[in-house]
Amino acid sequence: MPHSIVSEICEGVTACVGACPVGCISSSEKKNNKGNDYYWINFETCIDCGICLQVCPVEGAVIAEERSDLQKGP
Ligand code: SF4
Ligand code: SF4
Repeated sequence: MPHSIVSEICEGVTACVGACPVGCISSSEKKNNKGNDYYWINFETCIDCGICLQVCPVEGAVIAEERSDLQKGP
C-alpha cells in the first residue's frame, strides 16, 4: 500500500523528496492551511519502501497508508 503525506501536517521540509528512491514525491503549487508548501506522493509509483516515513522530522506528516482523504494533490 502506498504511503501518504498528510497535507495539513507537512511542513515542507523536503527531507523526504531526495530520499525517495523512485522520485515519486512532488511539491504542490499550493500552500496548506499553515501557510507551508506541502508535498504529495504519487500513489501509482510509490513502492512502499517507507524511507519517507523514516526521514521525515515532522510527527504524523507521513503515514503508511493510501489516504487520498488526507493527502491533497498538486
Ligand atoms: S512529508 Fe515530512 S519530510 Fe516530506 S516535505 Fe513534508 S514535512 Fe518535509
Ligand atoms: S514509501 Fe518509499 S517510494 Fe513511497 S513515497 Fe515514500 S520513499 Fe517514496
